[in-house]
Amino acid sequence: MIKFIPLGGASDIGASCFYLNINNTGILLDCGIDPRKKGKESLPYFSLIKNEPLDFVFISHAHQDHIGALPFLVQEFPHVIIYSTYQTKEIAEIVLHNAVNILAQENIDQNELRNYTHEEIDLLVKSIRDIDYKKEILLEGFAHNSNEKIKITFLDAGHILGSASIKIEFENEIIIYSGDINLSNQSLMVGAELNDYGKATTLILETTYGATDSSQLGNWLSESNRFAKLANKILHNDGSILVPVFALGKTQEILSTIFSLIEKKKITDTNIYTGGVSKEISNVYDRNRYIVNYDKKDLVLRNIPQTNFNEIEDLTYFNKNNGIILASSGMILKNTPSFRFTKYWLNQKKFAIFIVGYIDETAPGYVISKAQKNDSILFDDEPKKVQCTIERFYFSAHSKREELIEIVNKLNPEKIILVHGNDEAKNWIGEKILSINSKRKVYSAENFKEIVLM
Ligand SMILES: [Zn+2]
Ligand SMILES: [Zn+2]
Repeated sequence: MIKFIPLGGASDIGASCFYLNINNTGILLDCGIDPRKKGKESLPYFSLIKNEPLDFVFISHAHQDHIGALPFLVQEFPHVIIYSTYQTKEIAEIVLHNAVNILAQENIDQNELRNYTHEEIDLLVKSIRDIDYKKEILLEGFAHNSNEKIKITFLDAGHILGSASIKIEFENEIIIYSGDINLSNQSLMVGAELNDYGKATTLILETTYGATDSSQLGNWLSESNRFAKLANKILHNDGSILVPVFALGKTQEILSTIFSLIEKKKITDTNIYTGGVSKEISNVYDRNRYIVNYDKKDLVLRNIPQTNFNEIEDLTYFNKNNGIILASSGMILKNTPSFRFTKYWLNQKKFAIFIVGYIDETAPGYVISKAQKNDSILFDDEPKKVQCTIERFYFSAHSKREELIEIVNKLNPEKIILVHGNDEAKNWIGEKILSINSKRKVYSAENFKEIVLM
């Protein structure tokens, strides 16, 4: 018997958490929070598996929407055994400690959600068992009722440092959970190699860019050139450029992109500002660059000259000391540096905001990503006239929709469960899969709705 229940992250990007029961061995694939929500609302719905066995958690990568709920899970299920790649474990230590500080600031009603301590995070991270890519392990849960064990393999998914797809083999079933996956090369990460994946009977597939026409997305090189051209225009006119980015992944990729453009003299020499936890994460990238499939092994992110923006209180500083500011969050969520900067930037005629990654429709950054100079918008509940330049770039850490179809064709599964995307995205992918082969069974996953696979 194999059944699948999404506890979160089935129809959007946030709180990814998928439960698998394989002959009474209980497995969670990821354990994320929804960064747009607060308190209990932001967590996967753990109560749904109260009466189910739970033995293992496999974390695909260290983005908050895949790992952020782990400290809450172990409060309720202290016995679970957690697996991730070594790099994900290293990054987890940074991002989970950082989340303790953020939660403490947010003053959430303690009755609703008990915050956890730095000591608890230390213990949690220590308990994570790390596993190398392509190394098989055999597992069985406490109540496993088969003589055959479950075989698990982590495969490099090319999304961020340490990211993995997870292959789960039991009897004749081969389930592959894509996690967040990218087939194309970024500046640092090399795209996933599907030849390593083999075949699948069931594919649990992310669909982030399923609703996005790929002709919009361009590629890393053409977007870099466009970025350089526009950046020069702003910088030569004494403007500063805000680039909202995730601290993990996008910061390192864009930092390396900007630095190589400056080295090649495609962007004029300028100040680069970074801050928050991104520096610590960059150090993990530096340390692992010879270990994982990584481009630019000679580039040490730590050695790129950067000024810490946390030390700058008065934002008029950027009118005199212009440069490029890489600040989280990527979706310009409230109470983040990029949110604070955006409020100032919108009033500056010479400045620009460059959007470089995915922004969800419900995030505050969405209105910015759609706006142009002189538009009237509502930002932070205040009417604003956009004075600065706004430009949209596509530096994607996710597969384009044709690449998602390529994954399906290559792994050739009988059943496909679509997750991590909105309905429009899942519909496009689902219809495309069926138009190629109508014999395939496609499920558009819904939170809390069980799918029986075997
Ligand atoms: Zn991710
Ligand atoms: Zn994700």
